Amino acid sequence: MSSHKEPSFRQSVDLMFNRAVALMDLPPGLEEKIRVCNATYTVRFGVRLRGHIKTFVGYRSVHSEHMEPVKGGIRYSLGVNQDEVEALAALMTYKCALVEAPFGGSKGGLCIDPREYDEHELEQITRRFAYELAKRDLINPSQNVPAPDMGTGEREMAWIADQYARMNTTDINARACVTGKPIGAGGIAGRVEATGRGVQYALREFFRHPEGVKKAGLTGKLDGKRVIVQGLGNVGYHAAKFLSEEDGAKITGIIERDGALLDDNGIDVEAVHQWIVKHGGLTGYPDALHVAEGAEVLQNECDILIPAALEGVINMANAAGIKAAMIIEAANGPVTAGADDILREKGVVIIPDLYANAGGVTVSYFEWVKNLSHIRFGRLQRRQEEARHQLVVDELERLDKYLGDAWTMTPDFKEKYLRGADELELVRSGLDDTMREAYQSMHEVWHSREDVPDLRMAGYLVAIDRVARSYRAKGL
Ligand code: NAD
Repeated sequence: MSSHKEPSFRQSVDLMFNRAVALMDLPPGLEEKIRVCNATYTVRFGVRLRGHIKTFVGYRSVHSEHMEPVKGGIRYSLGVNQDEVEALAALMTYKCALVEAPFGGSKGGLCIDPREYDEHELEQITRRFAYELAKRDLINPSQNVPAPDMGTGEREMAWIADQYARMNTTDINARACVTGKPIGAGGIAGRVEATGRGVQYALREFFRHPEGVKKAGLTGKLDGKRVIVQGLGNVGYHAAKFLSEEDGAKITGIIERDGALLDDNGIDVEAVHQWIVKHGGLTGYPDALHVAEGAEVLQNECDILIPAALEGVINMANAAGIKAAMIIEAANGPVTAGADDILREKGVVIIPDLYANAGGVTVSYFEWVKNLSHIRFGRLQRRQEEARHQLVVDELERLDKYLGDAWTMTPDFKEKYLRGADELELVRSGLDDTMREAYQSMHEVWHSREDVPDLRMAGYLVAIDRVARSYRAKGL
């Protein structure tokens, strides 16, 4: 970075992009074509609430249409603005390319604090926003497919899907207009947890490759690693829960809007989550030390730092003080381009957002395919698979009898082996495969090229190359 001024989110994404394309040999002009955001639509609409007409401002940005539909979440936050939505849309293009989800990049946002409205009001606002976008094909199963993001979830996606269906009564694929829906409204098992689950799979894959672990100055596996997480929302909660309950990691710090909780022996993530649901924040949680200045905890000693709240939290003001051996960007853009330079110098390994939080869009892709095929995954094969496994178990039981005490089947083998995979297991398997493959594609570039200093650059190189190939195949 030549300037010492903190770049905006949009500038950060462009700087990271530029750093990667400088190493590529793209045809003249193609670099700019890929980098720029194709279109951003701003909508201002009124909703009558509490006797007044309240005007809301929303955006839907389409970054790249090299593949359609374009895909990207809808965020509800007071911080939403054009720069942010465009940066997030660009990240979606690179993310989809990296995990080979056949989509272009898009993103939407509504400038609103959802906590200020009750459920009925939020439904009115969401339906009106969806109407404004759908009538311009900015929500459409074959053109533009939103998903949840910060401040939105299954409930909002169900309202959007229903609003689209009301406006397109004969569209047999209407449900595929949005992903992240509840199961009863055409959703898929495992979507709510998908982004956090993807963070877990990403870390597992990282720890399977000793070169990267060594670069971070760490050893061993996830077991016993000290983890600090910022943001115990959808992504942060699931990531921290799975890492602590299934991989033996210790959550030593949880940072939220109202401070942070600390405990070197590990914090019970589920208990904190339940506390937040009940009390609206982590203040007062009895089983860990509470500190008021949450953001300062980002600089505490730990092995793995998981920013899972919002962008720009690790910046030129605090990067030098970061003590984590590695950072996994569960949020989008939590490390600014300026901080990225400082952390690289310090030897902190960063697993970048375009890979780390791609679990959400990956399972959204499965949901979209499920909606278009109008059938639940596993419905055709499951029982047939079980019948074939039964044949093997029958033979083993015969052998068991024949061999007597000399050999016997492991007690729960029969039960585990007989059961055919249901939708959740298939989704997890597909997500795991995607996260492993994408990591390996970045890892190969990172370790085979001297001029590629980090995983972010490697991720951008793989993603931009795929987008460029797609444009070239179209004759551009
Ligand atoms: P969310 O709204 O469910 O959770 C965000 C959490 O962060 C909340 O608990 C909130 O209280 C907390 N938070 C907000 N401001 C904070 C601050 N200043 N300090 C500490 N905590 C703060 O949102 P989410 O869906 O979990 O998204 C979080 C991040 O992950 C965003 O960057 C989003 O773009 C990214 N992401 C989400 C998904 C998804 O599937 N939901 C997919 C990919 C990326």
